[in-house]
Amino acid sequence: MARTIEPDCRQCRREGCKLFLKGERCTTKKCAMERRPVIPGQHGNSKRRVAFSEYGTQLREKQKVKRMYGVLERQFREYYDKANKMQGVTGENMLSLIERRLDNVVYRMGIGASRKQARQIVNHGLITVNGKRVNIASYSVRAGDQIAIKENKQNNEMFKSLRGSKVVMPKWVEFDTNTFSGKIVALPSREDVDADIKEQLIVELYSR
Ligand code: SF4
Repeated sequence: MARTIEPDCRQCRREGCKLFLKGERCTTKKCAMERRPVIPGQHGNSKRRVAFSEYGTQLREKQKVKRMYGVLERQFREYYDKANKMQGVTGENMLSLIERRLDNVVYRMGIGASRKQARQIVNHGLITVNGKRVNIASYSVRAGDQIAIKENKQNNEMFKSLRGSKVVMPKWVEFDTNTFSGKIVALPSREDVDADIKEQLIVELYSR
C-alpha cells in the first residue's frame, strides 16, 4: 500500500499547523509545532512564511487535508471526482467521503490513537464490519454499519488501555469501550469534520 514517507512532524511544520499525526504526543509539549514551528529544511529558521498566491493557497490546503488523512494524490482526486458527481455541495461531499474511510472511523472511535495507527489496525485485520473482517483502510462505511474489534483480538496488548475508557467522539459514530463494538449512527456531515479545513479552496484548485 502506497503511503507518504515524509516524517509526521515535518509534515506539520511544512503546513504550519498541527495535523495530529502522532496520537497523544500531539497534545503534549513534545509536539514539534510547540517546540520548533519552523519550515523544515536547512534554512528553516531563516525562511519566513510568505503570503501565497491564489494557486499556492489552494495547493497548500489540498496538501494539508491529504496529509491529515494520509491519502495520496490519486485517491484524493478520486474522492473529488466522485463528490463532483454527487448532488449537493462538492467540497462537503468530498470531506464526507474521506471521513467515511474505515481507518478514519477507527480513529474517530478512539480505537487508534492516530489515523496512522488506525490504518495499521485495519490493515492487520483486527476490525470487523457487520461481523466480517475488513482489512481495507479506504473501505467506505455506511449508516448503520456495525464496527467492532475482532473477538479473538480484543485481548491484544494494544487495546488494554482502551477498555472501559471514556472516549470523546463525534456524534455520527458510537463505540462501547466495554464491548469493543459500535456503529455508524449517520453519515458524517460538514459540521462533523474539523472546522479549519477550507474545502472550497480544494474544489477551486481541481476545477481550474
Ligand atoms: Fe504534528 Fe503531532 Fe508532530 Fe505535533 S506531535 S508536529 S501535531 S505530528
